[in-house]
Amino acid sequence: MVWGGATFDAIARLKREQSALASKRSSIRPHALGASPKKESFDCMFLCDVCGYLSDTDPPCPSCGRQAWIDLDYWGLAEALRAREEEERRHPPDRLKWQIRLASLAAGAAIGVGCAAGLALAGVAALGWPSLLGLGGGATALTHRLGRRRIGRSLMLRGGARPTRWHMPLPLVAEDAVVAARVVGQPQPRGALLTAPFSGRPCLGYELGVLFDAPGDAWPPIWVLREMRSCAFDVHDRHVEADAVTLALPITPVALPFMTESARQRFLRQRGLFLLDGRFDLFEAILEPGAVYELQWASAPQGAPPVIHATSGILPRGAYR
Ligand SMILES: [Zn+2]
Repeated sequence: MVWGGATFDAIARLKREQSALASKRSSIRPHALGASPKKESFDCMFLCDVCGYLSDTDPPCPSCGRQAWIDLDYWGLAEALRAREEEERRHPPDRLKWQIRLASLAAGAAIGVGCAAGLALAGVAALGWPSLLGLGGGATALTHRLGRRRIGRSLMLRGGARPTRWHMPLPLVAEDAVVAARVVGQPQPRGALLTAPFSGRPCLGYELGVLFDAPGDAWPPIWVLREMRSCAFDVHDRHVEADAVTLALPITPVALPFMTESARQRFLRQRGLFLLDGRFDLFEAILEPGAVYELQWASAPQGAPPVIHATSGILPRGAYR
C-alpha cells in the first residue's frame, strides 16, 4: 500500500508549500523585530516564521531547519504577527476564490435553470435562452453573494487548506513511502493519561484543529491550528515514545468545550491567537484508552513516526484531510 490517501495529501502539501510560504512571509518578519519589553504573564510557545511550526523550545526549527522563531511571550511580536495575519486574511489565495466562484456558478446555474423550467411549465415564460441565461445569471450572483461564506467554510471543512500553525511529530512521511510494518492492538500507556484540552476527555493522545472566522474580514474561514500530542505507550512489543505518533483519526467539532473562556483565551494566546478577534471553532480527535488501533510504520524517511489508524472501519475525513 502506498501512502497516497487523503490523510497524507495534506501532509505532503504542507511540505511542498513551506518554500512558497517562506517567500510570502518575507515581507513582514515579526521574528526579526527583536524582543519587546512587555511579556505575557504565562509561558507562550515559539512560532517558526518560515514554516509555521509551533514549538515549546527554540532550537533550530525541526521542520525547516531555520532559526526564525517568533517568541510569542512578547506582546510586541505577537501583535506584529496578529497585524500581519489580519492583513493576509484580506487577500484569500486566488485558487480558493476561484473554487468558491465555481461552486456558486454550479449552484446558481442549477437554481436558475430549475426556475426557468418551472416558469415554462407553468406557462409564465417560454423556456428560451434569454430566460435561462437571465435566471441562471441572477441565481449565480445571488448564490455567490449570500452563500460565499458558507461555501468557503464547507470547502475548508472538506480539506485542502494548510493551517497557519502546526505541531506534529517529525519527520513527515515521504510522499512515495509504503507501509513497512504494521501492528494491531490496544495501546498500553506507560504513565498517566493525557487530558484532551477541548473535550476534557482522558486519552493517550489527541489532535486539535481550530478553524477561525472573523466576520467582515476573514473570508473564508481559515484553519489556524493543527496540533498533535501523545503519551508514551506500548502496543505488543513495540514501544512508542511520547509525542512520536501521527494520528490519522476522524476529527470532529467540539460543540461544548470543557475549557472555560479564560482557559480558551490563554490556550489561544500561547499560540499567538486572540479570542477577541472572531469566532474560533474547535475540533478534536482522541486516542481512546482501551480501544484497538492499527499502527503503521512508513518505509521513508528513516525515523518517521508511526501513524495510528482506527480499526473500526471509519475512514478519516473532514477538516484538512
Ligand atoms: Zn520552520
